Amino acid sequence: MSKSFKFFFVLLLLLSLSFQAMAYRVQFADEAAMKPLRWKNGKIPIALSTSLIKQNFSIRNESDTVNAIRRSLLTWEKVTNVEFEVSWTDLQSLSPSGNSGDGVSLITIAPTSENLVLFGNETGDVSARTRVFFNRKGFINEADIVLNPYQQFSTDGAIGTFDLEATITHELGHLLGLEHSSVISSTMYAQQRKNGTLNLSGFSLRTLAEDDIAGIRSLYGAKNAEKDCCGQLHGKLIQTDGKPAKNMQVWAEEAETGRVMGEVLTVADGSFLFEGLVEGIYRIYTQETSDKVIFGAAEELGEIKVKKGKTLNITKKLKDTPNGFGLLYAGFNGQLSELAVPLNDGKSYTVYIGGKNLDTKSVHIDFNSPFFSITPGTITTHDFGSQVSVVSFEVNVKSQTPPGEYSFIVIL
Ligand SMILES: [Zn+2]
Repeated sequence: MSKSFKFFFVLLLLLSLSFQAMAYRVQFADEAAMKPLRWKNGKIPIALSTSLIKQNFSIRNESDTVNAIRRSLLTWEKVTNVEFEVSWTDLQSLSPSGNSGDGVSLITIAPTSENLVLFGNETGDVSARTRVFFNRKGFINEADIVLNPYQQFSTDGAIGTFDLEATITHELGHLLGLEHSSVISSTMYAQQRKNGTLNLSGFSLRTLAEDDIAGIRSLYGAKNAEKDCCGQLHGKLIQTDGKPAKNMQVWAEEAETGRVMGEVLTVADGSFLFEGLVEGIYRIYTQETSDKVIFGAAEELGEIKVKKGKTLNITKKLKDTPNGFGLLYAGFNGQLSELAVPLNDGKSYTVYIGGKNLDTKSVHIDFNSPFFSITPGTITTHDFGSQVSVVSFEVNVKSQTPPGEYSFIVIL
């Protein structure tokens, strides 16, 4: 392969396979419902407001508040790859609505005016609300949970109160990116019953239904049953000038299927860590993340054999990335967007890519996954004005393609 070839990768998202009939829904970053909201990193800091343990009218005396909250966090941690890092804070109010919050994901019950206004116009019994903040790539960076200070909560099933653990478990589902489900028995069902309604306790939402589990695993994957099931991959990226390469996106693709099995960002010293990789062969890639270019120049870091219980280390000096190139958009049906392209299996799609200084005559597109192919002769140039060069091509997705994220390669 000639040295002048440069690689660009774009992620494709395979969604909603037809044989899955689940009723869970996820939250989306965009109106077109193309990019599901999720936390980029499974480690999620949660700050518990001291209002939860101060004497207050909203939580019945002698409630086991702290343990109820811990159990609800554990309920999600047990089934999917998220881990909550809990701290306490004197903060009382959720962040005002807007593009971004204060960066603190708060659980609070304080009757401040900012919190009360969330429930001001409610006539029915609403137990809590969650406000989610996310960036334009669809990654959640904050979510604040407010328990309704007008209501009363308990942990012992006291009639007429909401069960605290059930409420927080439901709201944590929103915090993680889930919407309401239409399955009545699910934790993510919209209506929560108070203790004593129909002579039943409100405990059932403490436990996740299969539908909730399927929903959360669609965002974060299944929890590895045993701790030693998997291997780790630790690495460090260095720029050509010897400085650490921070904020690089690194992802691992299963070599056989091309499916993206993990995505992380490098930290300040250029290092990254994948945990929970099942035994197998992976191809590791990295690409720059910046506000200017959605899909930066990418580089393959190598093919790596991950073994159970072992930690592999790789250190890599990155090549200089070409100046002035960059993919800005990918989309389909003639629409360009800044988000991943959602596809279904067994279908064909015309996918568009647009970018700066993209030489549409010499562009070559390829897949790492055997489940995807390009219809020969379908690469077409489009006129979208002089600011951006746009090409389209037809992608065929094999039936029975495992759901997940896949990348495609644009070679210039
Ligand atoms: Zn809800």
